[in-house]
Amino acid sequence: MFEYAPAPESRSIVNIKPSYGLFINGVFVDAGSGFKTVNPASEEVLAEVAEASKADVDRAVKAARAAYPKWTRLGGRERAKYLFRLARIIQERSRELAVLESLDNGKPIRESRDVDVPLVAAHFFYYAGWADKLNYAGFGPNPKPLGVAAQVIPWNFPLLMLAWKIAPALACGNTVVLKPAETTPLTALLFAEICQQADLPPGVVNIVTGAGATGAALVEHPDVDKVAFTGSTEVGRIIAKAVAGTQKKVTLELGGKAANIIFDDAALDQAVEGIVNGIFFNQGHVCCAGSRLLVQESVYDEVLAKLKRRMATLRVGDPLDKNTDIGAINSAEQLTRIKDLAQVGEKEGAEAWSPPCDLPSNGYWFRPTIFTGVSQAHRIAREEIFGPVLSILTFRTPAEAVEKANNTPYGLSAGVWTEKGSRILAIADQLRAGVVWANTFNKFDPTAPFGGYKESGYGREGGRHGLEAYLATR
Ligand code: NAD
Repeated sequence: MFEYAPAPESRSIVNIKPSYGLFINGVFVDAGSGFKTVNPASEEVLAEVAEASKADVDRAVKAARAAYPKWTRLGGRERAKYLFRLARIIQERSRELAVLESLDNGKPIRESRDVDVPLVAAHFFYYAGWADKLNYAGFGPNPKPLGVAAQVIPWNFPLLMLAWKIAPALACGNTVVLKPAETTPLTALLFAEICQQADLPPGVVNIVTGAGATGAALVEHPDVDKVAFTGSTEVGRIIAKAVAGTQKKVTLELGGKAANIIFDDAALDQAVEGIVNGIFFNQGHVCCAGSRLLVQESVYDEVLAKLKRRMATLRVGDPLDKNTDIGAINSAEQLTRIKDLAQVGEKEGAEAWSPPCDLPSNGYWFRPTIFTGVSQAHRIAREEIFGPVLSILTFRTPAEAVEKANNTPYGLSAGVWTEKGSRILAIADQLRAGVVWANTFNKFDPTAPFGGYKESGYGREGGRHGLEAYLATR
């Protein structure tokens, strides 16, 4: 392997304050108590962040409610101008956002810089384009917004999940209260500053930080009209119960255990890149990660050898280093979960393999790992690990591949690798997954709808479909 000199991105571009308040009605306000957010690559405390109480959440919802009539009456054309302005400021401040995201989340700068932040800007541009065309979106002649949206997001793509939630909500004329995840609040707070910079009317976007209790107070608040949640299936269930019997419109984007299917006629070198991207992108903290590899038996040995060779070139380490492929695990808690499930894998008889690599002494790290000898009954083949851990299974016939791929309580995404176009269509048709990638994996685009079947949730985000979640269409 080549030796690379360190190429760290400078963090001097970001100005992290020692403490942050809540963003309510266009200004930062203090809350009673706070919690610390740390850099998972070093365990260094980055800042102290306010923990919103029930009363704080109520203040934020009131601000969103008060801002709602004016924001809606403004009309799509004027709202679009604000969204375009937000998108342009995001582009202008993209380096700052990328560095801050990598610091707070642990993801490699290569990804925050080249994937997360450009997609965030693209989402705001895309939905800015829709704001004055809602009458032609296919939801009736004059679709109305819902009102105040309560939005709760996870830590794996902090800013991108914020964009998925806020851009369509605002385009449709709703106002929002958003709660970022407790381990990654900083880019949402920087986005709040961007809202100020864009002169967004006060109360249109409110950001409340805190943990599960703050999220629960937000989704249960009687004056919210819409609940949009991205996170674990477990919390999704709690939220579905909490809002059952109310008038609130709900979308849930939950977990996944995607099958990445490699047929023997696939271009294997490309497929190996797709396997690596499918499971090691963002440390495997990806709801649609290709965490179950299904390889046709006749090419199993070849794929495995190529995969191991490729994995030996992956660089694990400092997220701010531009050469890094795999950064830090987002939290000590998540690292424990990954370790526990990996141990279960070995106990159940599967065989683990990782390339040799040195891990930094501080911070939360896990080597990229593959498991062979996995059966469908193994927990590592059934449960979402949400880390850089791949379970490898084999199949003989296309029918067996489909059966194994669908043998999961989830249904978020899948991948198919084959040279035959007709096979791609035939297999995709039979897969119970919201997104099916063909000869690629983990490709995202604001114009494409995204969402799951079964325990992966309901509703779609992205694309024209993403508007429906924020409009009173029936
Ligand atoms: P999580 O469910 O633990 O937390 C998600 C958010 O919900 C956090 O902001 C958390 O504070 C909040 N929360 C916790 N308890 C709550 C409650 N009772 N009421 C309201 N809010 C509450 O998930 P996580 O660990 O942050 O994220 C990982 C999960 O997210 C994985 O399962 C992953 O698959 C999923 N995810 C799904 C998608 C998708 O689009 N389907 C995208 C990204 C992540």
